[in-house]
Amino acid sequence: MDKKLQITRSVQVFEEPLLFERSRPGRVGVSLPSDDSNLPLEIDSSLLRDPADLPLPEVSEPEVVRHFTRLSTWNYGIDLNLYPLGSCTMKYNPRINEEIAADSAYANLHPSLPAEFAQHGIRITYELQEILKTVTDMKGITLQPAAGAHGELTGLFLVRAYLEDRKETHKTVVLVPDSAHGTNPATCTLAGFSVRELKSTEEGLLDVEALKAALTPDVAALMITNPNTLGIFETNIAVIADLLHKNGSLLYMDGANYNAIVGKVSLGKMGVDISHLNLHKTFSTPHGGGGPGAAAVVVSERVVDFLPGPIAEKKKDGTYGWTTASKSIGRVKAGPGHFGMIIRALTYILSYGNQLHRVAEQAVLNANIIRRALEEFFQPASPLDTMHEAVFSDAKQRKTGLETIHLAKTLIDYGYHPPTIYFPLSVKGAIMIEPTETESPETIAHFCEVMKDLAGRMAAQDESMKLSPQKSYVRKIDEVEAARKPVLNYFTKKT
Ligand SMILES: *Cc1c(COP(=O)(O)O)cnc(C)c1O
Repeated sequence: MDKKLQITRSVQVFEEPLLFERSRPGRVGVSLPSDDSNLPLEIDSSLLRDPADLPLPEVSEPEVVRHFTRLSTWNYGIDLNLYPLGSCTMKYNPRINEEIAADSAYANLHPSLPAEFAQHGIRITYELQEILKTVTDMKGITLQPAAGAHGELTGLFLVRAYLEDRKETHKTVVLVPDSAHGTNPATCTLAGFSVRELKSTEEGLLDVEALKAALTPDVAALMITNPNTLGIFETNIAVIADLLHKNGSLLYMDGANYNAIVGKVSLGKMGVDISHLNLHKTFSTPHGGGGPGAAAVVVSERVVDFLPGPIAEKKKDGTYGWTTASKSIGRVKAGPGHFGMIIRALTYILSYGNQLHRVAEQAVLNANIIRRALEEFFQPASPLDTMHEAVFSDAKQRKTGLETIHLAKTLIDYGYHPPTIYFPLSVKGAIMIEPTETESPETIAHFCEVMKDLAGRMAAQDESMKLSPQKSYVRKIDEVEAARKPVLNYFTKKT
């Protein structure tokens, strides 16, 4: 059969240039707008310009629909199957979130609208602020940051403002455990602090003795992830907080893994001063493909006066407005934050009512089912109990010549997105699996069967795994060639 005529995966596969170049002069795809007969027909001539000379595509509606539907089948998404990317909390995004966020009353709300015309939007922001303060048991909050890493940067700006206010500018060092997410040390550097790395214990916890030794007068803060990137709860957190505070230092908790403890613990009682929560992880706003994300930064009494503005407030007369903290560091972003994410997060939380803690319970249960099912086949990274993610190493497999990368790539041929691999760096050949609470027992069981099958193939030194993926739209990529001769433009002809 002529390859160009071949129909695979029930959708047509076109060769270039037909793949994207579907425009033909004169072809139109018009959907009639809703009744706009009341709009003025004439545009004020001062607003007109010469016609723009843009080569806009001319395509019919079915062509457009098929084009994007076809593209969507080449990708992998949470709406297709399990997405066990550890530390990323790729949970299902409930449709009700999307429905409410798309309501024109919210979707068309301009960020610069005067407060009196944007009461509903400010109220939503305020409600989310109040709920997250209550859930975390913290004193203050900002919803401005555009992502987790941006929340970290905001948090470290708060640390700096706090220290400057106390005239303790000699405190310039931030302690970061060796299991930290890469954004943590990067944020420290960007915020003008230097990083001192802390070794973890054999079990994967922060070493309290190492912390005591590292706590010199120049320490501004500790950045710790809890549960940490091994999926383990730092049980010494209150002791750690105490040590820091006695040293005049602050405790920053990376809350990217908050899914494991949401509604279960008090960050306030843990002694946390600053923490970012990724709305796009724990609170089910979509992510992947570069965003948009959003983070909440919750803070203790120590730094509440330095929060960035504007912060939504409820006034005495019951109306809503914006306020700024007394010694605010200023804005960290234009507008009041990613409102589309704020409204999705609030919808998600309200749909759980007072059962939000069940998210954490189910997420931890699912991760432990995977841990138990696979610990005989893959080496767990820690002997301690797993929270929301199960981390293994490829220690049992490496001698076969097949390692984590081959496992991850072959999983794609079984129809699964690979887990996070080779992170945290402290675990050699790490395989970090986070199922989240939204997966059914059947999906979890099937995934475990696939993982066991792969363990068997690795033990049998199945070299064909090195050729995977072979069943995905894009086959195994020649990474050396891709790095040396990158094709960055689809017009570039293959040579
Ligand atoms: C995802 C993540 C971050 C960064 O958050 P972004 O929203 O991706 O910027 C930081 N720390 C940990 C542990 C994470 O998992």
